[in-house]
Amino acid sequence: MDNSLKKDLKSFVIEELVADAIGIASADDFKEEDCRRIGVVRKAFAESTPLAGGDAQVYQPRDFLPDAKSVIVVGVNSYFGDGPDIKKAKKELRGFVEESHIDIDFLNKNSQRSSDVVDFFNDRGYQCFSLTAGGFPLKLKASECGVGRYGKNAVIQNRELGAWISLSAFITDAEMEFDSPLKDDCGECSICMEACPTGALESPYFCNVWKCLDFNLGHNKKNIPEEIRGLTGNLLGEGCRICRDVCPSNRNLKPVKHGEISSDMIAPELPSILSISDKDWEEKFVPTLFGFFLIEKKYLQRNAAIALGNFMDERAVGSLAEALSNGEEIVREYSAWALGRIKTPKAKGELEKALKKEQNKGVEKEINESLEFIG
Ligand code: SF4
Ligand code: SF4
Repeated sequence: MDNSLKKDLKSFVIEELVADAIGIASADDFKEEDCRRIGVVRKAFAESTPLAGGDAQVYQPRDFLPDAKSVIVVGVNSYFGDGPDIKKAKKELRGFVEESHIDIDFLNKNSQRSSDVVDFFNDRGYQCFSLTAGGFPLKLKASECGVGRYGKNAVIQNRELGAWISLSAFITDAEMEFDSPLKDDCGECSICMEACPTGALESPYFCNVWKCLDFNLGHNKKNIPEEIRGLTGNLLGEGCRICRDVCPSNRNLKPVKHGEISSDMIAPELPSILSISDKDWEEKFVPTLFGFFLIEKKYLQRNAAIALGNFMDERAVGSLAEALSNGEEIVREYSAWALGRIKTPKAKGELEKALKKEQNKGVEKEINESLEFIG
């Protein structure tokens, strides 16, 4: 086999496109047991977010290109540094947004890199498609070709970047030599599984996403169970780092170089988010990956209400009481839940006032439950 194509591709991707990792995997089907495991996750997404379009299928590489020979996996550093300063956030009633999800420049560079990889093959007479569809389990291919190993936390761990690697995959009819998988380093370790606050890592290499904080805040547009709401802290979307932070593979990581992102975007004031205008939502969040996952403003407001409930701080009563008149049921419902958590006489009074006006059965139920909880 002529290896010059692979050599040219690797130097193009690493040197010119400034990616951090690349591997070539076969275009062969995924194993049945892997499909079953990924299928559970796919089903959860299909049932909970319109972004999945109700599609729970796990796609095989050749569903995208019948003559496919290779899958290329590219990884870039997505570590932007330390997570939320929870003490400061509590003092100032601020939320937390994952920086890599809010940085438009990072997103644009990734999408430019993807189209450059496709062009690389097209210019040489090969077919190539970017596999951005949610139904393609690219982590499996990333582990098959050694871009990282599949950790028990169900996250890909790269040798240099740890679990902070943003992956993209491409399928092509170009034939290249495949790269080898890395050795599974987890061994007897199960630190991440024990550290997960919700028990979402139910078995090694499997995350029951219904229990995962990231899935619930970032993607679930249905009900977020109470036991999950109480554990999300001040997260406003994806951003739980626990199962990655505890992993010994994630020590001494170097943050990616990036431009300045305003602290109001990474740690916005929760009362302002709860009453965010359409204009601010559209200008600040819609162009970002964070906004793309949330889809609609009301889910950001829902998450802000949950975060305020988790702070259990009397200062939030005014903004939550105002949100009890919001036009969106979901915002009223979760604000009622948050006031129940704050539990003060003032919070109780606002819930009683809202109950007299509330017409929606679901919101009424939440107000009653909060009042019962306050006692
Ligand atoms: S992201 Fe958080 S909630 Fe989800 S599996 Fe990891 S530790 Fe558990
Ligand atoms: S914490 Fe341990 S079990 Fe979990 S991914 Fe890291 S090495 Fe594997």
